[in-house]
This record gives sequence, C-alpha cells and structure tokens, in this order.
Amino acid sequence: MHYLFEPLVIPSIPVLEADARFPVRRIWCVGRNYGEHTREMGGDPAHDLPIFFAKPSDAVTTEEVLPYPLHTENLHHEIELAVAIGQQGVNIPVQAALDHVFGYALALDMTRRDLQAVAKKSGQPWDLSKGFDQSCPISPIVPVTQSGHLIKGRISLSVNGTVRQQGDISDLIWSIPEIISILSSFVELRQGDLILTGTPSGVGSVKVGDRLEGECEGVGKLHVRYTER
Ligand code: MN
Repeated sequence: MHYLFEPLVIPSIPVLEADARFPVRRIWCVGRNYGEHTREMGGDPAHDLPIFFAKPSDAVTTEEVLPYPLHTENLHHEIELAVAIGQQGVNIPVQAALDHVFGYALALDMTRRDLQAVAKKSGQPWDLSKGFDQSCPISPIVPVTQSGHLIKGRISLSVNGTVRQQGDISDLIWSIPEIISILSSFVELRQGDLILTGTPSGVGSVKVGDRLEGECEGVGKLHVRYTER
C-alpha cells in the first residue's frame, strides 16, 4: 500500500526516564468535574453522567513556547490531570479500571472561551473552542510503576507567578476509575488514549507574554508561554 502524501506522524509524548514515547491515539476530556469550577461556570455539580468531549490527537504539544491561538480574544487555561491508557478495554468495571492506566501527566485543556460561549448559547458543538491546534500542552507521562495511582494530591496553575487555579485530585466529582468505566461503556478504550479529568476552579484569560506553570503532586510540572503569532 502507498499513500497519496506522507501520512501524519503519530503524535507522541515522552515518558519520564524512558527512551520509548507514548503514541497518542485519542484525547477524551471530562467537563465540569470539580464542584467549585462547575459553579463558577454557572452549572449544577449534580449530573447523571460525566460530560465527555474530545480533542484531536495532534492537539498535544510538549513545546514550551506557543503562538497565541487564532480567532480568540479570550483564551482560557484549564489545568488538568491526564490519565494515559495502557491496556485495551470495553465495559470496564470500576474495580478493574486502574489496571488499564499506564501513567499520568499534567495537561492544559486550553479553551477559546469566547467561541465556547457562543456555541453553548446556540446549542452548537464545542470542537472549535476546545479542539484547536496545540490546545493540549502536556507534560511527560509518569508511569504508574513510579507514581502509584493518584487518589489525592494538589493540582495548581500559576500565571506569571500568581496562583490562579488550585484543587485536589480527591475532589473530582467522577473519580478516575468511574471515568474509565463509564467512558468504556460508550467507546472501546485502547493503548494510547488520553483522558483529561477536568479542571479545578479559577479558570481565566491568558494574554500574549503570560507564563503558565502547572503543578501536580506526584506528576510534576508543566510550563507554557504564549507569544505573538
Ligand atoms: Mn477542561
């Protein structure tokens, strides 16, 4: 078989203290998974199922310097714990869910909030507000063999040295095993899938020149700076 043009190189993420990289298959995200953030967005923390949406796999980036995205005047930061799936599964029971985790990373679910507000208002999809180029800056993956499973731990984001977002993994409305179990009842999870687990309160605007520093206990740090395009 040959292709009309060179196929996309599979997007991938470094793995801490390893030569082999983690090839990214799909990026699933959970919306409104911390009570305080749900309230700051005008929502009700009690909902029957997690809210899932997706980003294209090539939205991941490990670059520290990024051009300010196109077509927005209100780019928002959402710091999130990302779960890297290492074992295939469908209809995974909650009790077995953590067996499917390869490791954890720290990610930003960057959001063009102005476009999302319009989409929400008119009942349109979120793709252009959430799934744009380089919308998922991510740290190297820490394998579970090193980090253990993350049941609790502080997660935070500073902008230019000032803390904007902070929360604790133990405050997730839908826990990591529950997210894996429920998502796998809708789609088959496979090696290479990433799941962003939701952001704590304090989301806000990012301007050109801003330096973002994310941190999560047991996972490490993530640095991003935005420049003029
Ligand atoms: Mn998010």
